[in-house]
Amino acid sequence: MTEAAFADGLFESGTAPIERPVFTAPAVDTTSAPDPGSTPVIDLSEVTKTYSTGAVEVTAVRGISLRIEQGEYVAIMGPSGSGKSTLMHIIGCLDVLTTGSYFLTGLDVAAMDQIELAEIRNRHIGFVFQQFNLLPSLSAWRNVELPMIYAGVGRDQRRKRAIGALERVGLGDRVNHRPGELSGGQQQRVAVARALVTEPALILADEPTGNLDSTATADLLMLFDELHEQGRSIVLITHEQEVAARARRTVRVRDGLLADASGRLAGFGVPA
Ligand code: ADP
Ligand code: MG
Repeated sequence: MTEAAFADGLFESGTAPIERPVFTAPAVDTTSAPDPGSTPVIDLSEVTKTYSTGAVEVTAVRGISLRIEQGEYVAIMGPSGSGKSTLMHIIGCLDVLTTGSYFLTGLDVAAMDQIELAEIRNRHIGFVFQQFNLLPSLSAWRNVELPMIYAGVGRDQRRKRAIGALERVGLGDRVNHRPGELSGGQQQRVAVARALVTEPALILADEPTGNLDSTATADLLMLFDELHEQGRSIVLITHEQEVAARARRTVRVRDGLLADASGRLAGFGVPA
């Protein structure tokens, strides 16, 4: 997972990324995909994920089916260790499922190799993480530029769009600041600008307010409200009720399964 995310410039590597040739992955065939207007942005069916670490196997996701329509704003809630981040990594194509199926905007993700997954991530998904995951040696606009380098956007366009995205999140006067010269809330807004700059269909945020104070949390949630109003799909993982309350729908995860509002587990197919 981490290696894959490094490839997108989403995680700190300690060194500035090297500008390198864009992936020459074969273009994803969308000709057979259904009309995007009616295709859910996320369609998970009976998904499981088992991690094997030495002799120990952990099944972090045990059979989750979930459909999220375009333009929806969904919160995923659940206690620590319930499988939220694992689910986010699968939804975000940062990791692959063990069994089940996953269609992202109609594309069969389970059938894709690492190069195709990187392409899909870059093209369709903007990520926001609890730890911001900015490169400390790069200025705000250089951080925001990263996904466009991987997407093969030209230098002038990159700079223009990076600055535009920073203006959209209210940081037009901080474009040359490095992460260490910004507050936590500002750093997270840089991360949101980076998530937005490729105009992805889906914003995926894992505990995005986990390291923010209440003012910065309120600012970030307002920004997400705006993005939702502009028609973007947002999936936000949180264990904070006030944060989840801003979404239009809440999905609960417990012990690797979806639970209904009462906390009962669903997905075993056991008759009542
Ligand atoms: P949450 O985000 O809800 O706290 P996670 O999805 O991070 O939960 O973890 C769910 C379970 O899977 C935990 O028991 C955790 O220890 C395990 N797990 C998560 N990531 C890995 C990994 N890369 N390798 C092995 N086990 C993992
Ligand atoms: Mg987590």
